[in-house]
Amino acid sequence: MDIKPINKWIPNLKRPLVIAGPCSAETEEQVMETAKAVVEIEDVRIFRAGIWKPRTRPNSFEGVGEVGLKWLKRVKEETGLLVTTEVANAHHVELALKHDIDILWIGARTTVNPFSVQEIADALKGTNIPVMIKNPINADLALWLGAFERMNLAGIDKLVAIHRGFSTAEKSDYRNVPLWRIPIELKRRHPELPMICDPSHITGDRERIALVCQKAMDVDMEGIMVETHPNPAEAWSDAAQQVTPTSLGQIIKSLVLKTEFSLDRTFEHDLTDLRSQIDRIDSELLEGLRMRFNIVERIGDLKMKNSVTALQVHRMDEMINRITETAEKIGLRSQFAQEIYNVIHEESVKYQTEMMRSFLKDTSKSED
Ligand code: PEP
Ligand code: MN
Repeated sequence: MDIKPINKWIPNLKRPLVIAGPCSAETEEQVMETAKAVVEIEDVRIFRAGIWKPRTRPNSFEGVGEVGLKWLKRVKEETGLLVTTEVANAHHVELALKHDIDILWIGARTTVNPFSVQEIADALKGTNIPVMIKNPINADLALWLGAFERMNLAGIDKLVAIHRGFSTAEKSDYRNVPLWRIPIELKRRHPELPMICDPSHITGDRERIALVCQKAMDVDMEGIMVETHPNPAEAWSDAAQQVTPTSLGQIIKSLVLKTEFSLDRTFEHDLTDLRSQIDRIDSELLEGLRMRFNIVERIGDLKMKNSVTALQVHRMDEMINRITETAEKIGLRSQFAQEIYNVIHEESVKYQTEMMRSFLKDTSKSED
């Protein structure tokens, strides 16, 4: 990709680059009050506010729309901050450009949809306005990369990635699980692409924002985007995760920045990389076991049809001998391999015994 270094288009850039402002623009007063407070924090260079809000359920507040763009223009004129808002279609792009918005961002629910991303890219042709792209809500690096490539093909080279975590069906302490290996892999492939962390949407909880900001600094991200509101508890959207400008100042002050290339940072990076390799191997091991049980099931079928018991001792001896021999050959402790296989074999026999039991139950029922 052809990416223009961020310090070439944001002058006097320092780390962390902080993007602050409310989840949603609500009123002109709220927008101006927030902007005037955050501009006092040295690291804040960009003001954010959602004008069109993608909401999970209908009848939630869906944003103030075009009028909010005028408020953002006022922020720009009165504070000197750069201003950014989310665009999700060509119409939003057209209006944002008309109101001199400095930077656009593409939200997580839009990045998932190549049709929408392409529509935005087409609307941006010939502008070279900076675009920040949030990760898609699902953990798909290719989809995220594809969105950058579409912008780049449309001639946009001022690009920024925003890591805002990933949606999961699993129970989790996060609103969106961070899965750090994904932004880190994107950084590894495109070190020239600046990466910003959005701890607000990752945690969904203002109390835990500082922790995630520190982690983002530890993995060498460029900056943070933090939802900031003068009265967070009363916010019209994402109330639980917004912080006051004062808290934002404290969070930024508390960050420990590693200014030089430090051993620690390499350590973090290597550790995350090695752990993701372990995670991959573990999934393969589990998938291998699943495949093994599919075959156990077919053997169970065969045994039933031929009235053979589930446990056949000679087979068990044969298997353990073979496992011992292979383990020694490839440098694994044979005792360890035997212990694992005793457990796997026991589970297989249980599995087949269960199969036979339910088969007998079914046949006795059908004979009734
Ligand atoms: C937002 O930044 O307010 C927003 C809607 O974010 P996301 O696209 O990450 O959910
Ligand atoms: Mn939000």
